[in-house]
Amino acid sequence: MMHVVYLFDIDGTLLHAHGSGRAAFDAVFVEQHGIPDASTGIRYGGKTDHQIIDEIFVARMGRRATAGERAAFIAAYLPKLHALLVEHPVEVLAGVHDALTYLAARPEVVLGIATGNVKEGAYAKLGAAQLERWFSFGGYGCDSHVRAELVAKAAERAKHERDVREVIVVGDTIHDIAAARAVGATVCAVATGSDPRDALAHADVVFESLIELPAWHAARFG
Ligand SMILES: [Mg+2]
Repeated sequence: MMHVVYLFDIDGTLLHAHGSGRAAFDAVFVEQHGIPDASTGIRYGGKTDHQIIDEIFVARMGRRATAGERAAFIAAYLPKLHALLVEHPVEVLAGVHDALTYLAARPEVVLGIATGNVKEGAYAKLGAAQLERWFSFGGYGCDSHVRAELVAKAAERAKHERDVREVIVVGDTIHDIAAARAVGATVCAVATGSDPRDALAHADVVFESLIELPAWHAARFG
């Protein structure tokens, strides 16, 4: 069978963590560098954890983080993220449960993740949303700090054990679209995240929410 692989972004696409990621990043920066509200003014949407750390370092320290500083940052970030996700429940976005249920029931469909979160952070968020059971593989911010490369890694993992006719990236930002284009994937943008619908118009399709995804899949694949 020729499979259709969906690669879902997490933040703004499947769920909103309502600032838990940003709060965890800021808490680490206070702890390690004594600077509060370090990520004020920095946009997180569509970026990898590594890119966000570098942007905070450049904004507050005037230089990028070293590899050692990034590793120490992530090590301190993960327990803070876990704690914040318990305190502040995540919101699963409209249509997500139905879209995943619909897609998972189709024998040709394979469901994966493509996110800038490091893998443990990704599964902390998916677990908080009780969505982790849908996904068995992915590409993550720890695979590459370049989004196109982690999307390519996810696609490579999907193709490892099966024939694939099409890879479809589902994401909420221009960065998801650019990464999908770079690897030759189809891209469904969804206007539930940080970029407005107008900014996403160069995707193959733009949804108001994932409520629209099952009908789009049915029209495209029969
Ligand atoms: Mg996103």
